[in-house]
Amino acid sequence: MIQPTQYDAVIIGGGPAGSTVGALLAEMGHCVAILEKEKFPRYHIGESLIPFCYFTLDRLGLVDKLNASSFVKKYSVQFVSPDGKLSAPFYFSKHMDHPCSQSWQVVRDEFDQMLLDNAREKKAQVLMETQAISFIEDGERIAGVIARGPDGAERPLHAKMVVDCSGRDIFSIRKYNWRVQDPSLNKMAVWTYYEGAKRDEGIDEGTTTVAYIPQKGWFWYIPLPENMVSVGIVAEPSYLYRDGRDPKKMFEREIANNPWVAEYLAPGKQVGEYKITSDYSYRSKYSARDGLVLCGDAFSFLDPVFSSGVFLALKSGELAADAIHNSLEQNDTRAEQFEDYSEKFRSGIEAMRKLVYAFYAEDFSFKDVLMKYPHHRADLTDCLIGNVDKDFGALFEAVSEFAEVPTPLPHGRPLVAVS
Ligand SMILES: Cc1cc2nc3c(=O)[nH]c(=O)nc-3n(C[C@H](O)[C@H](O)[C@H](O)COP(=O)(O)OP(=O)(O)OC[C@H]3O[C@@H](n4cnc5c(N)ncnc54)[C@H](O)[C@@H]3O)c2cc1C
Repeated sequence: MIQPTQYDAVIIGGGPAGSTVGALLAEMGHCVAILEKEKFPRYHIGESLIPFCYFTLDRLGLVDKLNASSFVKKYSVQFVSPDGKLSAPFYFSKHMDHPCSQSWQVVRDEFDQMLLDNAREKKAQVLMETQAISFIEDGERIAGVIARGPDGAERPLHAKMVVDCSGRDIFSIRKYNWRVQDPSLNKMAVWTYYEGAKRDEGIDEGTTTVAYIPQKGWFWYIPLPENMVSVGIVAEPSYLYRDGRDPKKMFEREIANNPWVAEYLAPGKQVGEYKITSDYSYRSKYSARDGLVLCGDAFSFLDPVFSSGVFLALKSGELAADAIHNSLEQNDTRAEQFEDYSEKFRSGIEAMRKLVYAFYAEDFSFKDVLMKYPHHRADLTDCLIGNVDKDFGALFEAVSEFAEVPTPLPHGRPLVAVS
């Protein structure tokens, strides 16, 4: 394929954030390239989608395809206490009578392929096995990237805008040393897959289960197609590593710690490797500079207890596409153009982040908050399902009586040149 030498936008990364920006910009008539360093399909973690993913997926035109796919339909989430006691499932439809109240548990290699194919169908140019190596800088402005293709050759791709959607590879953050660790969320995760483990029936088959282990750790239990279940543990490294670093031993020890998890996994067979990550909860110092904007995990990663990652990637991709479209229309791609984008993205992350802090607070339970303040149930649910475009001030004031509510992180705005 002949590649143009000048694009409107070059996007680094073909995950959910990158495919969303690429598809929407191409649909708006812009000349777009998405660079993806891997060969798809490729493995990725992040399988449970929260209800408000629906709206971006709908705008992308993918809801019918998702409904026709083999992805397990998710109608609810439930919690299991450390002694194995199960709460009643929380059905999203009880809160919202809307198609979004049925979500999906996805296999990410297929899901990401679906999103990337969609961008391609909308005429974004997708360059697979092509890795962004460095930025092309024009003074203070980012003017493109140097990309290495599958043949190993490096070539310049000039662009009016570069969009960093490189996920936890954090391309720009690494280059400019912009990584700021969240002050309190220092967790790690270890996960694997089980075949033939127990699952509930009917609309409960696709429920996400969050099962507690001591010291504020938790299991995820996510039913996937083909009788597979994704099972992971998130906890403090000091807790998980207390008897050594063998992930299998760690896993088996913690399974024995929660009777519900032990019972559900008993009929299953563990398959594949154990995976570990400890690179948790950060945010970039800046969200944009002249000619560059960051989306999804390339900007920020938040502890996955409420499955917010893909939602934030899709949402930021959508917000960024609209902001980039405006900036291209005005022929002004300075960082200032991304103030509003950054405010909206940061405030969505902050709402979720407050929930995450409360979840990990000593002796905290959302049940206690709702017993005292039942009228906050709707706001709490909105926040959990991703309806974050609203003011949660009253909710978090109530939560603050029970747990520390973190102040918003001050960083993450565009890097605006001082004149
Ligand atoms: C343990 C764990 C559990 C999680 N569970 C959930 C969950 O249940 N639900 C949920 O919603 N989220 C979950 N997440 C979060 C979710 O995985 C991410 O938030 C989501 O994948 C972010 O999407 P993205 O498009 O920003 O980045 P990614 O999906 O990571 O995509 C980035 C893409 O960029 C490519 N890339 C990177 N560098 C370059 C380069 N230099 N050049 C070209 N291409 C490049 C990569 O190959 C990759 O394909 C979890 C995360 C972890 C760590």
